[in-house]
Amino acid sequence: MNIPKVIVIGAGLNGLTCGYLLQKKGIHVTLLEANTRIGGRIETRNGTTNATIEMGATWFSKLHPHLFQLLDELELSYFKQHTQGISLFETMSFVPPQKFEISEFEEPSFRIKGGTQKLIEKLAERIGNDNIKTQTKVIAVNEVGNQMEVLDQNETVYIADCVITTLPPNLMVNTLSFNPPLPEKLVSLAKKTHTWMGESIKFAVEYATPFWKENNYSGTLFSQASIITEMYDHSTFDNTGYALKGFLNGSTSILSLEERKTKVITQLEKLFGSDAKNYITYNEKVWRDEPLTFSNYDHLVMAHENNGHQLYQNSFLNNKLYISGSETALQHPGYMEGAIVAAKNIASQFS
Ligand SMILES: Cc1cc2nc3c(=O)[nH]c(=O)nc-3n(C[C@H](O)[C@H](O)[C@H](O)COP(=O)(O)OP(=O)(O)OC[C@H]3O[C@@H](n4cnc5c(N)ncnc54)[C@H](O)[C@@H]3O)c2cc1C
Repeated sequence: MNIPKVIVIGAGLNGLTCGYLLQKKGIHVTLLEANTRIGGRIETRNGTTNATIEMGATWFSKLHPHLFQLLDELELSYFKQHTQGISLFETMSFVPPQKFEISEFEEPSFRIKGGTQKLIEKLAERIGNDNIKTQTKVIAVNEVGNQMEVLDQNETVYIADCVITTLPPNLMVNTLSFNPPLPEKLVSLAKKTHTWMGESIKFAVEYATPFWKENNYSGTLFSQASIITEMYDHSTFDNTGYALKGFLNGSTSILSLEERKTKVITQLEKLFGSDAKNYITYNEKVWRDEPLTFSNYDHLVMAHENNGHQLYQNSFLNNKLYISGSETALQHPGYMEGAIVAAKNIASQFS
């Protein structure tokens, strides 16, 4: 019997989970990834100290059972997000921030020990690096007889029985060509499908000591008044690396890195005192500048709009083309949980 060959386009969490699950079914899988790294919207950087810094996905909760199950299966551990101490809420720039405490009974968020990238590394290890080709940017997907042909930027041709694309839908229709063309209904839906966090700016400031915790601050901040809109303590699980991490106001994408950095450090100094000036590294990622994640929309698209749409549950070209990626999931689309749910749904369609 011939072993079916499947090409998965993209080696983010969804593509890697598809690869892992299909391989378990005895299917021959090749992942084609445009970037030099795998992980997509999961990117953990190493600080210069012990700190690990998440530029993408970080948190999950009890609402995400498929993720917990995968972590258990891959023997990865997790820990609670630190929230104890005084948290801050800035309503207006000219009044001092309000102080509040997060109840210890509140449903916690969790982080993966060692960084979210551990999940990516473990999946890649199971799939085998030989089956994952990085720096391979797919440009075209063609049906040729009863097979599929995938072309990369160097015009290298890959042949398979079936193709799974895992690009965020809007990026998929804006950057890949399909022959025969995708149904018009699907193209127009994809153009109105929001890519979760595509417009976000993540930042992290690494420090030698967790001076905020020493002064009984949790590190949590919500602000309607400054460049940092949301922030949390980002110390490692074993409390040997320290950082503050969160999101910046999306409109500051027009500023330079230096300009954003100055505003962030000034805000931190205002909130936590002069210790904030003595940072080790400043890290940030403007996701709308990441061409392998974000592509401009033709329309105004609201957060999560059309995520998990029924049309994405169909297969195309007589079961030779599947559309996956977190945004297609019926549960928790856009999140890591959605990436796993969508991969499980695809894998369940292969015997
Ligand atoms: C800043 C930020 C914070 C987030 N925070 C959280 C969080 O706290 N909790 C949570 O659950 N989720 C969070 N998310 C969402 C989470 O990261 C995503 O749901 C998940 O990682 C999506 O995985 P995916 O594989 O579907 O897509 P992606 O990760 O986008 O993977 C798509 C892959 O396709 C590749 N690719 C693109 N074009 C091509 C091409 N032409 N050829 C080949 N490969 C290509 C890309 O390089 C990428 O690796 C966050 C996302 C961001 C950006």
